Amino acid sequence: MEITLVKTTTPKPKPDPAKLGFGRFFTDHMFVWDYNPEQGWHDPRIVPYGPLELDPASAVLHYGQAVFEGMKAYRGPQGEVLLFRPEQNMARLNRSNARMSIPQFDEEFALRAIKELVALEREWIPTAPGTALYIRPFIIATDNVLGVRPSATYRFMVILSPVGAYYEEGLNPVSIYVEPHYVRAVRGGTGFAKAAGNYAGSLLAQKNAVAKGHSQVLWLDGIERKYVEEVGAMNVFFSIGGQMVTPDLGDSILPGVTRDSILQLLRSWNVPTVERRLSVEEIFQAHAEGTLVEAFGCGTAAVVSPIGRLEYQGRLIEIGGGKIGELTQKLYDTLTGIQTGRLPDPFGWVVRVDV
Ligand SMILES: *Cc1c(COP(=O)(O)O)cnc(C)c1O
Repeated sequence: MEITLVKTTTPKPKPDPAKLGFGRFFTDHMFVWDYNPEQGWHDPRIVPYGPLELDPASAVLHYGQAVFEGMKAYRGPQGEVLLFRPEQNMARLNRSNARMSIPQFDEEFALRAIKELVALEREWIPTAPGTALYIRPFIIATDNVLGVRPSATYRFMVILSPVGAYYEEGLNPVSIYVEPHYVRAVRGGTGFAKAAGNYAGSLLAQKNAVAKGHSQVLWLDGIERKYVEEVGAMNVFFSIGGQMVTPDLGDSILPGVTRDSILQLLRSWNVPTVERRLSVEEIFQAHAEGTLVEAFGCGTAAVVSPIGRLEYQGRLIEIGGGKIGELTQKLYDTLTGIQTGRLPDPFGWVVRVDV
């Protein structure tokens, strides 16, 4: 399939790299690919970034049949353009599609389209430490019918955003509210998929946590509300008694590429590491016994984000004395070093884009 290109005639000025924030600026072009049952995925094209014209009856606007991904492109030391394990994001997007009754797409072709778009927009990749070009693929249902059923037609798009640090706090430890009532995902639900509605449903708890002076929510399991699952839209690790513990994957936890990379790094460093159920009581117990040493969230956007405080049902604990943990820092330095081509890539994670 040939990807057609229509270049913008009105390129935008690049934003000030010191004031990027997260996901506020967008590049000059976007990728668009349509689906219908007769032609399958067809008419792949790179066109000027701009608004969509959607029928008000479009299925996505009513029942939220939509999925997305998040990945980053970096500039290497010689100016080369680098992606991090992008095939993992394409595979996960198809798994999200399967859960949301959206047709499968050709992962190799989609990755080729992303590479072409990123190569075209390479001047938008910021180079300051902590910055990157965020890549947001997403798929929406476009049937103009109000019946509740899978749409027959879809649109796959990719937009790009130069980004700075995800949290204004940067790598400083953040305060986390353990949510006792609302849950993010349930067994048999859609938590393992990057499905748009999961995030809409999480906003109220997030808003309440912010009102209480925290920056994120720690989600508990949807059945007993005892076991930790994720922190905000990140996976979570705790260092307890000399062991790194992260919740084992089930269908209520998003299988993060960062989580998987951290597991591989920790194992290669011979750090004792387990994936298992972990109750919030065990975490508070470990804190009382002095064996809770570090905790962090992890995901593409923030890479790692240290947890400095946890509040649960009126009890408040501090972790790491307000400082980032030693292992947390080493994971951040190693991951970002590999991602930006400044450290060797022993796992073969980095994919170079031809420009
Ligand atoms: C995207 C996401 C993550 C992190 O996944 P990465 O592949 O590491 O970016 C974790 N949890 C949720 C809920 C997410 O949406």
